[in-house]
Amino acid sequence: MRIIAEHDSEVGAAVNAEFARQRRNLELIASENIVSEAVMAAMGTVLTNKYAEGYPGKRYYGGCECVDVVENLAIERAKKLFGCDYANVQPHSGAQANMAVFIAMLKPGDTVMGMNLDHGGHLTHGSPVNFSGMYFNIVPYGVNNEGYIDYDELEKKAMEAKPKLIVAGASAYCRTIDFKRFREIADRCGAYLMVDMAHIAGLVAAGLHPSPIPYADVVTTTTHKTLRGPRGGMILANEEANKKFNFNKAIFPGSQGGPLEHVIAAKAICFGEALKPEFKTYQEQVLKNAKALAEALKKQGFKILTGGTDNHLMLVDLRGMDVSGKELQNRCDEVYITLNKNTVPNDPRSPFVTSGVRIGTPAITSRGLVESDMDEIARCVWLAATDFENKADEIRASVTEICGRYPIYQ
Ligand code: PLP
Repeated sequence: MRIIAEHDSEVGAAVNAEFARQRRNLELIASENIVSEAVMAAMGTVLTNKYAEGYPGKRYYGGCECVDVVENLAIERAKKLFGCDYANVQPHSGAQANMAVFIAMLKPGDTVMGMNLDHGGHLTHGSPVNFSGMYFNIVPYGVNNEGYIDYDELEKKAMEAKPKLIVAGASAYCRTIDFKRFREIADRCGAYLMVDMAHIAGLVAAGLHPSPIPYADVVTTTTHKTLRGPRGGMILANEEANKKFNFNKAIFPGSQGGPLEHVIAAKAICFGEALKPEFKTYQEQVLKNAKALAEALKKQGFKILTGGTDNHLMLVDLRGMDVSGKELQNRCDEVYITLNKNTVPNDPRSPFVTSGVRIGTPAITSRGLVESDMDEIARCVWLAATDFENKADEIRASVTEICGRYPIYQ
């Protein structure tokens, strides 16, 4: 960072300010994490200089022998980590991975079922403002009033709509996803099954959430959420499915150009870390912290959608309280707590305002926080929701004390 500041003071100042913010704030955004120094360092290496269109051993440029080693390491580790025999580590992001799968499996106009954005799905699962909703006929499914995926309703809709593809996976779903049930529904209506495990990939890698690999035709993920790697995406499948759909071709040349080999190096390091026993211990702590935080929030007086959580995130239901999701997010920002607003089922407020917030524990767990810290975090969020004017200074002091006890990047 010193080199950046000396070379370009404006960019350097912004990067330094972001570093200070990350050190000062409690990061409760469920999709964020704190990567190891090795993962971060890989992204700042000479690999960023290299063009390597194509795949290891079959590149369109000379001089790829070293990046071939890096990309093969990432591929082999990804396959070992998730127990499959095909991996494409080139997607620049989760959205790119999803787009490539759509390109590989579908034709424009085909019918796709994905989880409704307002119910916890992702933009790339069929939102009208995304390529998925623009070029495909989307039949959304969702959760029931309690916040659980309504599998019976999903099956009914699938039998009527006869989609070509069903997308399972979500950005804001706090319960275990029943991939077997999804497979049964897909088989009954004659659809392919894609699982986007972006949020839970770290839990799946650690064996703490059922793996979608045995059930899905294809699995996509990001590498930067619970998996704790660099920002990026990945496609996993079995070789048989890859032979049928050719996912490699859908990434390059279908939807991307040159791969980001410096990021792929960071992915390889992340997968190496995830193959170690310490990673399982970390993911177990993510779950313990999430359960403890959900209980502590309930003790303070908050309602938690579905009454708790099976994974790394929870959804606080603010219906009936005098604060919206947007207001609570803004207030928390002011007192060094970062979280995000989120809709709840049948939300009376607009998606820009919302009646909920999403809270996750991957980043605070990477920082070292344990169950005994969760009561104080819950108290701070409660005070932000109920008595912000009087308690803002007190919350800030408490967050500063916690972050001081668990410093990052010493
Ligand atoms: N899929 C799911 C389920 C996500 O939650 C996200 C991001 O939040 C993505 C895909 C997209 O990932 P990216 O932001 O890397 O494009």
